[in-house]
Amino acid sequence: MKRKVPELLAPAGSLDKLKVAVDYGANAVYLGGLKFGLRSAAENFTKQELREGVDYAHAKGALVYVVLNGFLHDKDLDELGEFIQFLDQIKIDAVIVSDLGTIATISEQTNLEIHLSTQASCLNIDSARLWKKMGVTRVVVGREVSIAEAALIKKEAQIEVEMFVHGSMCMAYSGNCVISNFTQGRDSNRGGCAHSCRFEYSLDFPKMGLAAKHNYFMSSKDLSGLRVLEEFIAAGIDSIKVEGRMKSHLYAATMAKVYSQALDYYEEHGHFLSEKLLEWEDELKKVTHRTYAQANLIDKANADTIFNEREHDTELDYVMVGRVIGQIEDKETVIEVRNAFNQYDEVEILPFKGSVLKQGLNHIKLLNGQEIERSKPSTLVKIPYVCGAEVNNIVRMRKV
Ligand code: SF4
Repeated sequence: MKRKVPELLAPAGSLDKLKVAVDYGANAVYLGGLKFGLRSAAENFTKQELREGVDYAHAKGALVYVVLNGFLHDKDLDELGEFIQFLDQIKIDAVIVSDLGTIATISEQTNLEIHLSTQASCLNIDSARLWKKMGVTRVVVGREVSIAEAALIKKEAQIEVEMFVHGSMCMAYSGNCVISNFTQGRDSNRGGCAHSCRFEYSLDFPKMGLAAKHNYFMSSKDLSGLRVLEEFIAAGIDSIKVEGRMKSHLYAATMAKVYSQALDYYEEHGHFLSEKLLEWEDELKKVTHRTYAQANLIDKANADTIFNEREHDTELDYVMVGRVIGQIEDKETVIEVRNAFNQYDEVEILPFKGSVLKQGLNHIKLLNGQEIERSKPSTLVKIPYVCGAEVNNIVRMRKV
């Protein structure tokens, strides 16, 4: 039975993060192979990892979309055929594409479902109709489109619509930015963006009355659509997408958990309670982020959407310190340590569903029972038993 709420589509920057996103409630994940995407610095998936990722997601009822959204040159297209046939063979659920040549090649050589990437900047009904004629079944509308405009595109063009709900934003029209090419020699349309918009610039344009020395006026705040989820739902948006394939495991877990919880809550109750929204908002603030904004979701983005600050961590930042490996006879919980923590620290375990579990560390022990005062990364340790913790739950701690 079709859900009343949109699909939650989460980023999967690696096989491990794919498993985290799916375990924490994402309905679908998007990821890149070693080539043809826009995140050359992400870990990306080998063919073997792609196979394993698809099997893992499908076994848990989640879909897998593969990004092929770089703007390709002819020599790139020569190599594309073999890769897309492989994707077809392992039964991925769709490819996300922006380049017409890539769409033509995929349509000629495979039966893969095609979603149009936000990079293609589809902003209107006629554009969506044309993409549909070319075989596209879903458009990821440009970030410049409001929820109301996206609803019209869906209705008039009779096509599935996907929108970004959360994550970093470009100051430029997606897919039309070359600052990185000129300042760093890295092609943002072929996966090399160096985030040049986050740097400090000085502006000197006296004829226009504009002068800003040492300013971050090209850096955008981060998007968060949690407060307008009801609008996404009422508009019938098919899929809401979280940005961030290069972000952390904690980010992947937090985003999948918060947004899936919110959508499930709406599905069950038909409304949101303000205390619930506050609780979820609090969780979203616990991952590294710039100030949140709604950008173009309801009204047009304006000067309030500019971040205009040096990149910094927020006070509430949490860090992932480990992952639950198992429980020993209701007495101790075993953790694989990622970042060191000390005896008497308080850690928090993120269960797949439900409230965060807190645990003070009266003791930390090695597996042989020896007590230690500080854990070491890449080791297994035992901490006091955490009731309700499950294997693969993420363990986090507030940064000190
Ligand atoms: S430099 Fe900034 S605006 Fe340009 S593509 Fe990269 S993130 Fe987007």
